[in-house]
Amino acid sequence: MAKIKRTIKTIKVDADKCNGCRTCEVVCSSVHAKPKYSSVNPAASRIRVITHRLRDIWLPVFAGEYTPAECNGRDKYVIDGKEYDECGFCRAACPSRDLFKEPDSGLPLKCDMCEEEEGGPLCVEWCLNDVLTLEEREEEVDEEVEIDEMEAGLDALIDQYGFEKIKTACARISQKG
Ligand code: SF4
Ligand code: SF4
Repeated sequence: MAKIKRTIKTIKVDADKCNGCRTCEVVCSSVHAKPKYSSVNPAASRIRVITHRLRDIWLPVFAGEYTPAECNGRDKYVIDGKEYDECGFCRAACPSRDLFKEPDSGLPLKCDMCEEEEGGPLCVEWCLNDVLTLEEREEEVDEEVEIDEMEAGLDALIDQYGFEKIKTACARISQKG
Protein backbone atom coordinates (compact mmCIF):
# COMPACT_ATOMS: atom_id res chain seq x y z
CA MET A 1 0.00 0.00 0.00
CA ALA A 2 1.32 3.48 -0.91
CA LYS A 3 2.57 5.70 1.89
CA ILE A 4 1.47 9.32 2.28
CA LYS A 5 2.32 12.13 4.71
CA ARG A 6 -0.50 13.14 6.95
CA THR A 7 -1.00 15.59 9.78
CA ILE A 8 -2.25 13.66 12.76
CA LYS A 9 -4.36 15.75 15.11
CA THR A 10 -4.78 14.68 18.70
CA ILE A 11 -6.84 16.29 21.41
CA LYS A 12 -5.16 15.60 24.72
CA VAL A 13 -7.60 15.33 27.62
CA ASP A 14 -6.48 16.30 31.11
CA ALA A 15 -9.50 14.85 32.89
CA ASP A 16 -8.31 15.99 36.33
CA LYS A 17 -9.00 19.61 35.31
CA CYS A 18 -12.56 18.98 34.08
CA ASN A 19 -15.37 20.38 36.25
CA GLY A 20 -18.25 19.06 34.14
CA CYS A 21 -19.42 22.48 32.91
CA ARG A 22 -20.38 20.86 29.55
CA THR A 23 -19.53 23.95 27.50
CA CYS A 24 -17.76 21.58 25.08
CA GLU A 25 -21.04 19.70 24.48
CA VAL A 26 -22.96 22.92 23.94
CA VAL A 27 -20.51 24.40 21.44
CA CYS A 28 -20.05 21.13 19.52
CA SER A 29 -23.78 20.48 19.11
CA SER A 30 -24.38 24.09 18.16
CA VAL A 31 -21.69 24.32 15.46
CA HIS A 32 -22.83 21.02 13.90
CA ALA A 33 -26.53 21.96 13.93
CA LYS A 34 -28.12 22.43 10.54
CA PRO A 35 -28.29 25.34 9.87
CA LYS A 36 -25.18 26.11 11.93
CA TYR A 37 -25.91 27.53 15.41
CA SER A 38 -29.66 27.01 14.93
CA SER A 39 -29.95 24.75 18.00
CA VAL A 40 -28.16 23.57 21.11
CA ASN A 41 -28.62 19.94 22.07
CA PRO A 42 -25.84 18.23 24.04
CA ALA A 43 -27.33 14.85 23.05
CA ALA A 44 -26.19 15.65 19.50
CA SER A 45 -22.66 16.56 20.57
CA ARG A 46 -19.62 14.63 19.39
CA ILE A 47 -18.01 15.02 22.77
CA ARG A 48 -19.85 13.82 25.87
CA VAL A 49 -18.87 14.38 29.45
CA ILE A 50 -19.37 11.30 31.59
CA THR A 51 -20.23 12.62 35.05
CA HIS A 52 -20.76 11.09 38.44
CA ARG A 53 -20.70 13.71 41.20
CA LEU A 54 -20.54 11.28 44.14
CA ARG A 55 -17.54 9.53 42.64
CA ASP A 56 -15.95 12.85 41.52
CA ILE A 57 -15.92 11.69 37.89
CA TRP A 58 -15.85 14.18 35.03
CA LEU A 59 -14.59 12.53 31.89
CA PRO A 60 -14.86 14.06 28.39
CA VAL A 61 -15.06 11.34 25.70
CA PHE A 62 -14.95 12.01 21.94
CA ALA A 63 -17.22 10.20 19.45
CA GLY A 64 -15.24 7.66 17.42
CA GLU A 65 -16.17 5.08 14.81
CA TYR A 66 -19.59 3.56 14.26
CA THR A 67 -19.77 -0.16 14.95
CA PRO A 68 -22.74 -2.32 13.90
CA ALA A 69 -22.27 -4.92 16.66
CA GLU A 70 -21.91 -4.51 20.39
CA CYS A 71 -18.98 -6.12 22.24
CA ASN A 72 -19.46 -9.54 23.83
CA GLY A 73 -17.71 -8.35 26.98
CA ARG A 74 -17.58 -5.09 28.90
CA ASP A 75 -14.72 -3.03 30.33
CA LYS A 76 -14.81 -1.44 33.76
CA TYR A 77 -11.97 0.76 34.96
CA VAL A 78 -10.91 1.76 38.46
CA ILE A 79 -8.35 4.59 38.45
CA ASP A 80 -7.14 6.30 41.62
CA GLY A 81 -10.00 4.65 43.50
CA LYS A 82 -12.65 6.02 41.11
CA GLU A 83 -14.78 3.37 39.46
CA TYR A 84 -15.92 4.34 35.97
CA ASP A 85 -19.11 2.98 34.42
CA GLU A 86 -18.98 0.05 32.01
CA CYS A 87 -17.99 1.20 28.52
CA GLY A 88 -17.24 4.65 30.06
CA PHE A 89 -14.12 5.16 27.96
CA CYS A 90 -15.54 3.69 24.75
CA ARG A 91 -15.85 6.11 21.81
CA ALA A 92 -18.02 3.94 19.54
CA ALA A 93 -21.57 4.61 18.40
CA CYS A 94 -22.89 1.08 18.92
CA PRO A 95 -26.27 -0.67 19.27
CA SER A 96 -25.99 -1.15 23.04
CA ARG A 97 -26.50 2.55 23.94
CA ASP A 98 -27.76 5.93 22.71
CA LEU A 99 -24.43 7.72 23.11
CA PHE A 100 -22.98 9.33 19.97
CA LYS A 101 -26.14 8.99 17.92
CA GLU A 102 -28.06 11.89 16.40
CA PRO A 103 -31.16 12.06 18.67
CA ASP A 104 -33.79 12.40 15.90
CA SER A 105 -32.41 10.07 13.22
CA GLY A 106 -30.35 7.69 15.36
CA LEU A 107 -27.50 8.05 12.85
CA PRO A 108 -23.98 7.75 14.27
CA LEU A 109 -21.98 10.84 15.19
CA LYS A 110 -18.20 11.10 14.92
CA CYS A 111 -15.85 13.88 15.97
CA ASP A 112 -14.57 15.53 12.77
CA MET A 113 -12.10 17.79 14.58
CA CYS A 114 -14.24 20.74 13.39
CA GLU A 115 -12.49 20.45 10.02
CA GLU A 116 -14.73 23.05 8.44
CA GLU A 117 -14.03 25.64 11.14
CA GLU A 118 -11.18 28.08 10.56
CA GLY A 119 -10.09 28.21 14.18
CA GLY A 120 -9.89 24.42 14.61
CA PRO A 121 -11.62 22.33 17.25
CA LEU A 122 -14.16 24.54 18.99
CA CYS A 123 -14.39 22.40 22.11
CA VAL A 124 -10.66 23.03 22.63
CA GLU A 125 -11.13 26.76 22.11
CA TRP A 126 -14.09 27.04 24.47
CA CYS A 127 -12.94 24.83 27.33
CA LEU A 128 -11.93 27.50 29.80
CA ASN A 129 -10.29 25.04 32.17
CA ASP A 130 -7.60 23.94 29.68
CA VAL A 131 -8.77 20.35 29.84
CA LEU A 132 -8.51 19.92 26.06
CA THR A 133 -5.30 20.65 24.15
CA LEU A 134 -4.76 20.22 20.43
CA GLU A 135 -1.53 18.53 19.37
CA GLU A 136 -0.44 18.06 15.75
CA ARG A 137 2.35 15.98 14.20
CA GLU A 138 3.37 14.77 10.73
CA GLU A 139 3.33 11.02 10.15
CA GLU A 140 3.85 8.68 7.23
CA VAL A 141 0.80 6.44 7.00
CA ASP A 142 -0.68 3.87 4.60
CA GLU A 143 -2.94 5.46 2.02
CA GLU A 144 -6.44 4.28 2.67
CA VAL A 145 -9.94 4.99 1.56
CA GLU A 146 -11.44 7.28 4.17
CA ILE A 147 -14.96 6.44 5.26
CA ASP A 148 -16.65 9.80 5.61
CA GLU A 149 -19.61 10.70 7.79
CA MET A 150 -22.17 10.17 5.02
CA GLU A 151 -20.85 6.68 4.28
CA ALA A 152 -20.87 5.75 7.96
CA GLY A 153 -24.49 6.97 8.11
CA LEU A 154 -25.39 4.85 5.07
CA ASP A 155 -23.74 1.82 6.68
CA ALA A 156 -25.87 2.35 9.78
CA LEU A 157 -29.07 2.67 7.71
CA ILE A 158 -28.22 -0.50 5.76
CA ASP A 159 -27.60 -2.38 9.02
CA GLN A 160 -30.96 -1.19 10.32
CA TYR A 161 -33.19 -1.66 7.25
CA GLY A 162 -31.24 -3.88 4.81
CA PHE A 163 -29.57 -2.97 1.53
CA GLU A 164 -32.58 -3.67 -0.72
CA LYS A 165 -34.90 -1.30 1.20
CA ILE A 166 -32.32 1.49 1.12
CA LYS A 167 -31.71 0.93 -2.61
CA THR A 168 -35.45 1.05 -3.34
CA ALA A 169 -35.85 4.23 -1.27
CA CYS A 170 -32.93 5.93 -3.08
CA ALA A 171 -34.40 4.99 -6.48
CA ARG A 172 -37.80 6.39 -5.44
CA ILE A 173 -36.27 9.66 -4.16
CA SER A 174 -34.16 10.11 -7.30
CA GLN A 175 -37.32 9.86 -9.44
CA LYS A 176 -38.91 12.71 -7.46
CA GLY A 177 -35.92 14.98 -8.19
S1 SF4 B 1 -15.70 22.47 28.59
FE1 SF4 B 1 -13.83 21.63 29.55
S2 SF4 B 1 -14.23 21.72 31.77
FE2 SF4 B 1 -16.21 21.98 30.73
S3 SF4 B 1 -17.02 19.86 30.63
FE3 SF4 B 1 -15.95 20.22 28.68
S4 SF4 B 1 -13.89 19.43 29.04
FE4 SF4 B 1 -14.83 19.67 31.06
S1 SF4 C 1 -13.32 18.72 17.84
FE1 SF4 C 1 -15.19 19.69 17.03
S2 SF4 C 1 -16.40 17.92 16.31
FE2 SF4 C 1 -14.84 17.11 17.72
S3 SF4 C 1 -15.88 17.08 19.70
FE3 SF4 C 1 -14.72 19.02 19.57
S4 SF4 C 1 -16.25 20.50 18.82
FE4 SF4 C 1 -17.06 18.45 18.41
